[in-house]
Amino acid sequence: MTNMAGTDGAVLEIDLGAVCANWRMLGARHGSGPVAGVVKADAYGLGAAQVAPALFAAGCRHFFVAHLSEALALRDLVPGAMVAVLNGALPGTEEVFAARGIVPVLGSLDAIAHWGARGPAILQVDTGMRRLGLDPTEIATVRAEPARLAGMELLYVMTHLVSSEVPGDAENARQAAAFGAACTAVPGVPRSFANSSGLFLGDAFASDLARPGAALYGINPTPGQPNPMRPVVRLRTQVLQVREIATGDAVGYNATWQAARASRIATAYVGYADGWPRSLSSRGHAIFDGRAVPLVGRVSMDLTTYDVTDFPAVGPGSWLDLIAPDMPVDAVAEAAGTNGYEILTRLGARYARVYLG
Ligand SMILES: *Cc1c(COP(=O)(O)O)cnc(C)c1O
Repeated sequence: MTNMAGTDGAVLEIDLGAVCANWRMLGARHGSGPVAGVVKADAYGLGAAQVAPALFAAGCRHFFVAHLSEALALRDLVPGAMVAVLNGALPGTEEVFAARGIVPVLGSLDAIAHWGARGPAILQVDTGMRRLGLDPTEIATVRAEPARLAGMELLYVMTHLVSSEVPGDAENARQAAAFGAACTAVPGVPRSFANSSGLFLGDAFASDLARPGAALYGINPTPGQPNPMRPVVRLRTQVLQVREIATGDAVGYNATWQAARASRIATAYVGYADGWPRSLSSRGHAIFDGRAVPLVGRVSMDLTTYDVTDFPAVGPGSWLDLIAPDMPVDAVAEAAGTNGYEILTRLGARYARVYLG
């Protein structure tokens, strides 16, 4: 139930031109091979049905999703491109993958045996995440018994970084070495390594196919450094009412915020049912006219309250920016105690969505 009408009091603008520019910029960084588009979780909440065709038109020919259902929805939108499922094939779904030309990411000896010679697949090796992928014992088995891969068409061997956004973490170099060693168990198979932040770690993380997601959508792949990506998302909400309250009056559920002075409170058209985190209660800010407006009281299901005492121009119908170039998704995430990935993937279905570019 995505609201495309554009009539509601909160508008989510998604700049597809910026997504494509970000993809091209990452491609220019990755000299060793192409760059895929990771469009799992509905392209991190932004709409895979819009994002993937835009990337395809820009030249992207490799797509990753997490679920088979996401791959089925994507398959015909990117004709001829690789569509791979990171979570792999649940037992019994292999025929659907094969019939629709969808590539499973295989991460265990069992998954390899179930898939067999049905068609192209990607092999995942675990170098530290310890959730999916062949573990060191299984890699040793493949090395000792290459017949286990007989007849398989392996497009890539891949692994996933644990701490790529922390360039100083020694785990990165350890994983690069472990990946290089594991790849020798499948000689000649192309490699896929870096996610968004991995693309900024240096040559040891280059491969035949990079797999960025977050950076395409404007999340900073280099936390603590200036964001090299173009912003993609703008989220605006409209003020429904403005009321005057007296010193000592409380605002919102459980009266968690009390006015220290006579105040003006603006009630805006967004709440946690829209994915606006309740953890922003009395912590977040919106932007009005280039200045930060404090969020006060609890975020409720459909409404959020702001202290606009110092913003006399704010009235019913005024627009407040929730995510914008001067309130980037990473700043919202930090205030909410989470990361930009969670903020984007929780963006709700009630926003009027506008696609630019
Ligand atoms: C989500 C995911 C990616 C993309 O990661 P970003 O940090 O968003 O760039 C790449 N590879 C795997 C295995 C993933 O699960």
